[in-house]
Amino acid sequence: MREAILLTPGPLTTSLATKTAMLTDWGSWDDSFNALTARVCADLVNIVHGGDTHVCVPLQGSGTFAVEAAIGNLVPRNGKLLVLVNGAYGRRLARIAEMIGRPFAIYEAADDTPPNPAEVAARLAADPAISHVGVIHCETSTGILNPLAEIADVVARAGRRLIVDSMSAYGALPIDAREIAFDALIASSNKCLEGVPGMGFIIVDRDALLESAGNSHSLAMDLVDQYLYLQKTGQWRFTPPTHVVAALAAALDQYHLEGGQPARLARYSANCRSLISGMGRLGLKLFLEPSLQAPIIVTFHAPNHPDYDFKRFYEAVRARGFVLYPGKLTAVETFRVGCIGAIDSAEIGQAVGVVADALAELGWTH
Ligand SMILES: *Cc1c(COP(=O)(O)O)cnc(C)c1O
Repeated sequence: MREAILLTPGPLTTSLATKTAMLTDWGSWDDSFNALTARVCADLVNIVHGGDTHVCVPLQGSGTFAVEAAIGNLVPRNGKLLVLVNGAYGRRLARIAEMIGRPFAIYEAADDTPPNPAEVAARLAADPAISHVGVIHCETSTGILNPLAEIADVVARAGRRLIVDSMSAYGALPIDAREIAFDALIASSNKCLEGVPGMGFIIVDRDALLESAGNSHSLAMDLVDQYLYLQKTGQWRFTPPTHVVAALAAALDQYHLEGGQPARLARYSANCRSLISGMGRLGLKLFLEPSLQAPIIVTFHAPNHPDYDFKRFYEAVRARGFVLYPGKLTAVETFRVGCIGAIDSAEIGQAVGVVADALAELGWTH
């Protein structure tokens, strides 16, 4: 039987070429591995056109490790971070600031509402202590797309610095560092680049990075040290996730062969459209206004049936070879389906068929 298709936004379904790239053992001091790291990092900067101003600092760990590193390095101990929250990842950003002792404030919007740039401007004007703004690009807890360009504009006009968690958007949604002012943009190997989990990275303004020397709250997450050591030796400080880097290099080759960011966005958008129309035929309704929906992950209201239970739904779909994602909202019962990974409309069509069969088996059809 075919491996299960992951309709989860990372880890996600990867291609055979990406998986087979992990069949080699690399020495972490070896020139060929150093060249691989350098190639991947240069590529990651180029994808957002950051070549003249920005550098890539890779970091061992999941995406959250890279977010924590960015906050702990770039926001000085006497700085203040305004966190824009409209979902769980925004709340996590604030929690990081709290844990590592960086002063912060929160501007919270509802889960189905993007932060309002005018309100961000007002809060910056009202509080001169705010040095940085943190925003989630695509809030994966619902799939909502936040207005990055407009927020970046407001932050730049107010003379503050922007830190973007673009984990689930980077590589698929267009980002141009020549047009959008940011100090740091954070993403990871296992989302829209379709690599395997284990590496986060920060695309960071080189001057802002160098100015941040001495800020780090952590030895292992010291981005300036990681960057300077990589520059000097070609090597990561501490053991690199060699197989993850090799898989990411292979995934990036496929990314460019496919046609880069526009092609990836087109495939995910087609996935998203077939998903929404197919689930709509089954009576499953979108949580978000369609105009706010990013083509990354879709939140649906749970089937309206008194016996509904996500675990049973999950198992029935899982038995048919597809993996769903639970909802992440407290007020409403929802579930989520990812549009990303090495899948296209064919797999999405099969997934809709499987959901239909599962609902019929459970007796939850309308
Ligand atoms: C996936 C994700 C993260 C990081 O999650 P990890 O589980 O640590 O990889 C952070 N922010 C957003 C918006 C994400 O989608």
